[in-house]
Amino acid sequence: MSKMNPYEMFLKQVDEAVPYLNVEQEFIDVLKEPKEVLEVTIPLRLEDGTVKVVKGWRSHHNNALGPYKGGVRYHPNVSKDEVMALSAWMSIKCATAMLPYGGGKGGVRIAPRELSKAELERLSRGYALAIARFMGTDIDIPAPDVYTNPQVMSWFLDTYEKVKGWNEPSCYTGKPLELGGSLGRGDATARGGMYVLREALKEVGLYGKPLTAIIQGYGNAGSNAHGLYSEIGLTVVAASDSKGGTYNPKGLNYEELMKHKKVSGTVADFPGGERLTNEEVLEIRADVLIPAALEGVINEANAAKVNAKVVLELANGPTTPEADAILEEAGTLVVPDVLANSGGVTVSCFEWIQGRTGDFWTEKTVHEKLDERLTHAFHEIWKIKKQQGIRMRQAAYVRAMGRIIAAMRFRGIWP
Ligand code: NAD
Repeated sequence: MSKMNPYEMFLKQVDEAVPYLNVEQEFIDVLKEPKEVLEVTIPLRLEDGTVKVVKGWRSHHNNALGPYKGGVRYHPNVSKDEVMALSAWMSIKCATAMLPYGGGKGGVRIAPRELSKAELERLSRGYALAIARFMGTDIDIPAPDVYTNPQVMSWFLDTYEKVKGWNEPSCYTGKPLELGGSLGRGDATARGGMYVLREALKEVGLYGKPLTAIIQGYGNAGSNAHGLYSEIGLTVVAASDSKGGTYNPKGLNYEELMKHKKVSGTVADFPGGERLTNEEVLEIRADVLIPAALEGVINEANAAKVNAKVVLELANGPTTPEADAILEEAGTLVVPDVLANSGGVTVSCFEWIQGRTGDFWTEKTVHEKLDERLTHAFHEIWKIKKQQGIRMRQAAYVRAMGRIIAAMRFRGIWP
């Protein structure tokens, strides 16, 4: 598989938007580098008494619009370049959703499923301690990403607050409700994607029709999408996770698939579907393909085999620039990650606001505010796409980079 370095992907995406932006090159040059990247080493004491040395990173890409914001990923393939790319995509995403944030991201190179709960807690506290001097409600605010969750956020926050000696709940988002989390954060990424997809389907004349969908990656983003998207007429016919996929042209039952995944740990051997490989899942004919796992899965090698009218990128960076061009040629609309999955960081922002004010909102309020914000962002981007005759990703970058650079221009280049 021709997988691209994710940071090179980001640079290429910037270059593809630059011709449509009327800005000084010096700001583009600044945006092409993260401001700072902290590399940490965490000595992890395992249950057998030995020590495993674990590497981690926290990247600060740009903070012209506000404090750095972005999740922490635990995965055995995490690299510095991946964390840098994810932080840069966060800068674009936060500007796309008009949030008062810049872009940050963290990663730890570990397979969390191989750890006991006590080991996972020690690792999480070790990482939070190592990055504590880089964090703060007005400095950098982490959240969950692949293989991290509200429990991990709780250990992060507790460690941070004990090191600092004060309570500061808005330094971490994606927390459990008991620690100051927000209603509606759990399914926010999928829900935001649903609002954006609804608008996209209206624009391409598919809204209101019965539609089929494929979900690649059945974690927080992907499984919640399965649960929610029947609201906008989607029937999920195929789903996959790291162990493989399952397919049923009549539709996969959400409750049964969730129950099965909980017991067996995978969707692959679901009795209500036919087993497929991860590659086969991406090639099934369906109206909407929803990548919700990792970067680079739709690339030069397989893009021509994608058989969908719309790609909704709930994952970060699932489509390489080469694949973008192939999909455009085929008439497939790609709704880019920086818009499609921005519901997660948007509700994280709501959690940050609620934590700072002590004024907690109802779930209905969270959903309404999320819908309003993302519907607005979608139409701004759609307008630029139509006016300039460019892809949605280019239009999103034009809008986001324009906003970040406008703030940088007022600040000036200093020191
Ligand atoms: P998660 O850990 O909850 O789920 C990840 C899923 O991907 C798991 O089901 C895993 O089995 C599956 N997976 C891993 N490798 C795979 C492969 N090769 N093929 C198919 N499936 C594979 O993670 P998540 O939080 O749902 O994040 C998924 C994606 O969404 C990531 O790209 C993440 O950056 C992005 N995202 C998440 C959030 C959020 O709030 N959680 C917000 C924005 C974007």
